[in-house]
Amino acid sequence: MKRGEAERILREQRARVTPQRVAILRAVESSGSHPDADAVYRQVSRGHPHISRDTVYRTLSMMEEKGIIGSVLSVGNSKRYDPVTTKHHHLVCIRCKKILDFSAKEFDRLEPPAKMVSRFQVLRTTVQVEGVCEDCRNRKKT
Ligand SMILES: [Zn+2]
Ligand SMILES: [Zn+2]
Repeated sequence: MKRGEAERILREQRARVTPQRVAILRAVESSGSHPDADAVYRQVSRGHPHISRDTVYRTLSMMEEKGIIGSVLSVGNSKRYDPVTTKHHHLVCIRCKKILDFSAKEFDRLEPPAKMVSRFQVLRTTVQVEGVCEDCRNRKKT
């Protein structure tokens, strides 16, 4: 995220720009692995030691509602936030729980079957590929 980018995004969405909000948005962006609220809190509190966990949680929800950030649905886990709100897909490492973005035209073209669409209003289709990431595979060899 470029300098001033977080401020610009907040302003565009008519959200008040505060140093804490900028730090929260930057933390989601810079993590690179779709952090959960706790990870964002840990990161932000380094620069803002007085910020409360509650503020971080509420700010993330607000940003998601405004479409500033997205989230990845992971059933049974804490919600993971996503700085990318345009169409993309996810690689989920089953060992370290890291979530990586990837784009693939083949997956973008996927159409839900007509039988499903008649019973379920489809808003978006995202492919989630589960497996073991490079870091975890390398770790095992040593
Ligand atoms: Zn991994
Ligand atoms: Zn993503």
